[in-house]
Amino acid sequence: MARAVVAGNWKMNTSVAEARALAAELRESIGHMEGVDRVLCPPFPYLGMVRDAVTGSTIAVGAQNMSQHEKGAFTGEVSPGMVAELCTHVILGHSERRALYGETDEAVNLKVEAALKAGLTPIICVGETLAQREAGAAEAVVERQLVKAIDGVETPGALIVAYEPVWAIGTGVPATPDLAADIMGGVIQRVLESTYGATAASATPLLYGGSVTADSVRGFVEQECIHGALVGGASLRAEEFAEIVRTTAEVKG
Ligand code: PEP
Repeated sequence: MARAVVAGNWKMNTSVAEARALAAELRESIGHMEGVDRVLCPPFPYLGMVRDAVTGSTIAVGAQNMSQHEKGAFTGEVSPGMVAELCTHVILGHSERRALYGETDEAVNLKVEAALKAGLTPIICVGETLAQREAGAAEAVVERQLVKAIDGVETPGALIVAYEPVWAIGTGVPATPDLAADIMGGVIQRVLESTYGATAASATPLLYGGSVTADSVRGFVEQECIHGALVGGASLRAEEFAEIVRTTAEVKG
């Protein structure tokens, strides 16, 4: 059985003081829980500070992106090694990176390989746009994104996969739990099983992401094939994020 995981993607939000306060509050409320892994993903400049703020708790910290390159003349980029010195997880292939920064499936694959090599746990994001769903291509898109992302990755040991339908991100309108389960228990599970076998596939945490709130999370994590959530907007509200974590622990515990 896969571990339950709730990750908060803070995106490009918070000041230094706000990030410190958010991390400190979460350390108090959900710093010492069993049964659910908690990962905070602040902006790059705050990684070290947030790591320090949660030291002594069992909260993990992750980046929201990284370069596929080890080092060199890549102005503005952050290497896997730099990320790995500060935290344990990294979100890769987020739809905002794909849509706004032209991140391709090939680049995501290189980043996944580089993250694993650096000892990081990649949270691989996949998901279709509304136009792709309306064209009946949702499954094909998710399959292509996932197959390419894990191409050449021999064991799924450290992988987490997040299904984030693009039309549900930041809209306040999440997918339904049934729709998410169709994709996650269907095509995502199938790709993992055919690549790694049933046992390893079933140990890979699958997260739903897209307008998850304290009110909506229960329906998702009650699905057997959904092990947790990747939370954007609601992860900036300490009490609401803590409630999402508590509900996940209660349902999955
Ligand atoms: C995200 O961007 O990963 C996300 C899930 O955002 P939101 O929860 O705000 O839809």
